[in-house]
Amino acid sequence: MNREQTLRNSGLILCLTCHKLIRAGKKHPRCPRCGSLVHSRTPGSLSTTWALVITGFWLLIPANILPITQVVYLGDGQPDTIISGIISLINDGMLPIAILVFLASIVVPILKLLGISFLLLCVQFKWTFSAYHCTLLYRFISLIGRWSMLDLFMISILTALVDMGAVSSVTPGPGATAFATVVVITLFASKRFDPRLIWDLKET
Ligand SMILES: [Zn+2]
Repeated sequence: MNREQTLRNSGLILCLTCHKLIRAGKKHPRCPRCGSLVHSRTPGSLSTTWALVITGFWLLIPANILPITQVVYLGDGQPDTIISGIISLINDGMLPIAILVFLASIVVPILKLLGISFLLLCVQFKWTFSAYHCTLLYRFISLIGRWSMLDLFMISILTALVDMGAVSSVTPGPGATAFATVVVITLFASKRFDPRLIWDLKET
């Protein structure tokens, strides 16, 4: 089998900060241009990403069960979870916004966690899946992650705008904290996963 030429088997390391190529020689080399520590593969990438993904899956439970907002209008109101908020939007005839909230708050975080889990499983168990498609999946996950912030932005704007004392108010619930943590954790997980591990599978 023809061995593909890679940076690693050519004795080179890429600095991920400034993209300078460095000769691998010393044990913990630093980039001579920007001073960052450079690694052929991010140390502990798999274990840290696993830990973040498992935490993310656990936190999805309180994020969806606990109320994310409490809207009070003229002393009347009830806490809303993500799902009940979407149902209220549909009942109020705001279907496009309901779809947007459903995609940003439920579909994107779950897809992202499942996508990273799939990549982790591929690397961990050396599944022979197309490295090219795995890399596309990784890029897609990194791209869509930030859109989950939509719900949190909406809550933070509503809390500030709809603060009319006894008349009406919007307060974030404990579900919002759990949801925000899921979003941040998935961002860290995709950042922590080293996509070069996908291409190592081709060499084994
Ligand atoms: Zn550098």
